[in-house]
Amino acid sequence: MTFEELGLEANMLQAITDMGFTKPSEVQEKAIPVLLQEETDLVALAQTGTGKTAAFGFPMLQKIDIDSRTTQGLILSPTRELCLQITNEMKNYGKHCKGLNVTAIYGGASITDQAKQVKRGAQIIVATPGRMKDMIKRRLVDITKIEYCVLDEADEMLNMGFYEDITDILSHTPEEKSTWLFSATMPKEVSIIAKKFMHTPKEITVGTKNEGATSVSHEYYLVNARDRYLALKRLADANPDIFSVVFCRTKRDTQKVAEKLIEDGYNAGALHGDLSQNQRDLVMKSFRNKQIQMLVATDVAARGIDVDDITHVINYQLPDEIETYTHRSGRTGRAGKEGISMVIVSKSETRKIKSIEKRINKKFEKKDIPSGMAICEVQLMSLANKIHNTEINHEIDSYLDQINALFEDTSKDELIKKFFSVEFTRFYNYYKKSKDLNAEAQNSSSRDSDRKGSSDAVRFFINVGKKDGYTWMSLKDFLRETLSLGQDDLFKVDVMDSFSFFNTDKKHLTKVAEVFNDFMVNGRYVNVEVSEDKGRQRNRGRGRDRGGRRPKSSDGRRGERRSRRSEKSRSEFGGSQESNRRSQRKSGSGSGAGRPRRSRRR
Ligand code: AMP
Repeated sequence: MTFEELGLEANMLQAITDMGFTKPSEVQEKAIPVLLQEETDLVALAQTGTGKTAAFGFPMLQKIDIDSRTTQGLILSPTRELCLQITNEMKNYGKHCKGLNVTAIYGGASITDQAKQVKRGAQIIVATPGRMKDMIKRRLVDITKIEYCVLDEADEMLNMGFYEDITDILSHTPEEKSTWLFSATMPKEVSIIAKKFMHTPKEITVGTKNEGATSVSHEYYLVNARDRYLALKRLADANPDIFSVVFCRTKRDTQKVAEKLIEDGYNAGALHGDLSQNQRDLVMKSFRNKQIQMLVATDVAARGIDVDDITHVINYQLPDEIETYTHRSGRTGRAGKEGISMVIVSKSETRKIKSIEKRINKKFEKKDIPSGMAICEVQLMSLANKIHNTEINHEIDSYLDQINALFEDTSKDELIKKFFSVEFTRFYNYYKKSKDLNAEAQNSSSRDSDRKGSSDAVRFFINVGKKDGYTWMSLKDFLRETLSLGQDDLFKVDVMDSFSFFNTDKKHLTKVAEVFNDFMVNGRYVNVEVSEDKGRQRNRGRGRDRGGRRPKSSDGRRGERRSRRSEKSRSEFGGSQESNRRSQRKSGSGSGAGRPRRSRRR
């Protein structure tokens, strides 16, 4: 089918030719004729990268009255990135529609400027929910006459907690408008929105429901938890032309992994919510320009990243929600390209792989972390290919006499060997004594899963618990930040009502003792003591071990302070994690084990 056959008018067809689109994508074929011919609500299940913006964009552009200055179309999108992307696409699609004004409304930029643009007569507004709600409240926009409303990436908007905002915004729109909902997945929440705000919507599905994009293959690598970072580096080294998003679970891990990668010579950058909008813009700009090859990101910050040629998505840590995995892997394999979604897992996480397989209806391939020598070979051949394909720069000609003189006595064979050794030796020296990182290859008894009961582990008692608002996950994050420890240095975190336990390796004992010596927050002591409980006996009363003795504090004293301090108000501590974070010592992220530094792109 051609775009013409879909019913698009000449000025749209011209824009399509300008953009070089040759034939409609599946979602366009299914959605455009329906939306052009009927005034209907629509639910479309389509991933990003399927061409869905054009699927709703062209019909909207063709149906609105460009001669009017009234706002007739509203497109809601989850992130500023995506909002700008859609605005841009809409402007491109409508570039031959004279008088068209598409305005983007999003947080982090001047509300006055945006209001001015709207006032000039925006027929179409593309907005993020938060800023849109704000502008409605301030009466800076009027959406009471819109005829078409698009909810783009509805699942992501709901994931991000925009349900209330969306409901509020839609309550200002006319009842008889058409609503077009686009979503990659159809969780319950999206069906609820569809039921609540739409009237017998037409449904279209591109690909299978809930299935990851078909051009993405899924791989997992089983390593010991402590080798996660080394594994990440190997995956990057084994793919010299990698252009990837690396997903971490927390902002702190994101920052740390990015910092370590940069120190180790990779072209990496961090993207997370603790960065200013300006910093995020700069990182995204470098990523788009491919100055950054590895963008380490949190799920929230990465939503809406709309870069087409991402080769790999690396799940440094798996997300808590399986749904999130779909969003992550959807960042690659876009616009008809192939992509790989890699997951680095420890043994205890392999169950999750099975659940994801069920959800996405696709099998993961279990792969081995490449050996050091395999990486050396990949790097060598990559260099050889690069040199083979390099265009000669004749600026070099004037230096050739000098160079030739230097190599007068060197044969071609020897010259090639020397030339490649320059690069090869860097990798070879780094990797020659490297170990096998695959979990099965290692003696697991000395490793992660068995550390819990090993003699290298120390179990600590801490006088905060569920009553202070902690879950095992948030307590682990708090401890890691306060102690500047890595993701895998803390384990067996058990949170009780008013106290908790956690384990670290013996080597961190002094650090824990030092950091928590007179550690106060809002006038309250947070007390950490060595427990004689090795983690075998969950839920036993008030920190006593089996023998009924009081746990010793890390400096050997019995913990009478604890009971006294735990009398104090728990709420004082509840809101104090932020101040704690601020007061903690800055973590010195390790400089990595001397990986050969990459030659930077610029
Ligand atoms: P989307 O799913 O809307 O984010 O689109 C993904 C990318 O595909 C965008 O860069 C579009 O410009 C591009 N695109 C959309 N429709 C087509 C098409 N029919 N042929 C080729 N590229 C397209």
